[in-house]
Amino acid sequence: MTGFQADPLDALRLSPGSQRPRRLRRTATLRDLVRETTLAPDDLVCPFFVVPGHAVRNPVISMPGVSQLSVDLLTAEARELDSLGIKAVILFGIPSAKDPLGVESYAEDGVVQQAIRVLKDATPDLVVMTDVCMCEYTDHGHCGLLGPDGDVLNDETLEVLGRIAVSHAEAGADVVAPSGMIDGMVGAVRTALDADGLERVAILSYAVKYASAFYGPFRDAAEGAPAFGDRRSHQMDPGNAREALREASLDVDQGADALMVKPALGYLDVVRAVRERSELPLAAYNVSGEYAMVKAAAANGWLDERAVVLEVLTGIRRAGADLVVTYHAKDAATWLQERS
Ligand SMILES: [Zn+2]
Repeated sequence: MTGFQADPLDALRLSPGSQRPRRLRRTATLRDLVRETTLAPDDLVCPFFVVPGHAVRNPVISMPGVSQLSVDLLTAEARELDSLGIKAVILFGIPSAKDPLGVESYAEDGVVQQAIRVLKDATPDLVVMTDVCMCEYTDHGHCGLLGPDGDVLNDETLEVLGRIAVSHAEAGADVVAPSGMIDGMVGAVRTALDADGLERVAILSYAVKYASAFYGPFRDAAEGAPAFGDRRSHQMDPGNAREALREASLDVDQGADALMVKPALGYLDVVRAVRERSELPLAAYNVSGEYAMVKAAAANGWLDERAVVLEVLTGIRRAGADLVVTYHAKDAATWLQERS
């Protein structure tokens, strides 16, 4: 022994009274207690692709675990969602026939209109939302009526959107969700609903929808890829965030009850920005490409699907979304139930 030797770590030790954030991470219960963002099944909205026919369950190859379903299969689906604590669905329809005017989109016995009735019969408390757009119903696959030069006509399309929304609302939809990024769509839908005595029906506007390559798998599922051209004349440029706030405020002014940002993961800054600007409930759409990436990586054993999905959905909520529309809804709800 050569006398006292200072512990070389002493110089590095925190002094008494130091800030130690790890104290609150020490146990699972402490972490639960101070968690800022929660995720629950009733934060999730489950999308369905409804097709004509009976006992049809067509798997969507690019979206493993997702199938197009015929109306008769929806009762069982609704009961399953109920048992999982999921409170809302959003419906997309694939019609029996497409045409330039998309007339089946507002047919009383259209596939979505039938689906709404079946779901509300089976589970009256389930919140049924519907996508209101023309692209699944037109043979050209565009989100509106086309002019002679192939442009999507804006104001002419508004009248059709109003008819679609009214037909969904009359079938029993709780929320209609115009998604085509047509200028004035929220006001046109509100006016049409109110003129038909459907003031009670809410509008969730796809207020901020980007022209995104992440929609690729959805176009397989909804069979709505444009036959020519793209949607960049109406959907937003991925580089723009200030424009998102403009779009959101226009929709608020037109009477939107809730707003949506789509896609979610590449646009979490936009979710946060809209959250801070508007008091309305905010949804974010965890789109098909985001889903497909996780599924593909998990299938290869490159990611832990369960952990990644719950982290992704929590991240979208943390960015400011109240609701998350996601194809992971049933899996996530199952895992959340197991965890609690
Ligand atoms: Zn569309």
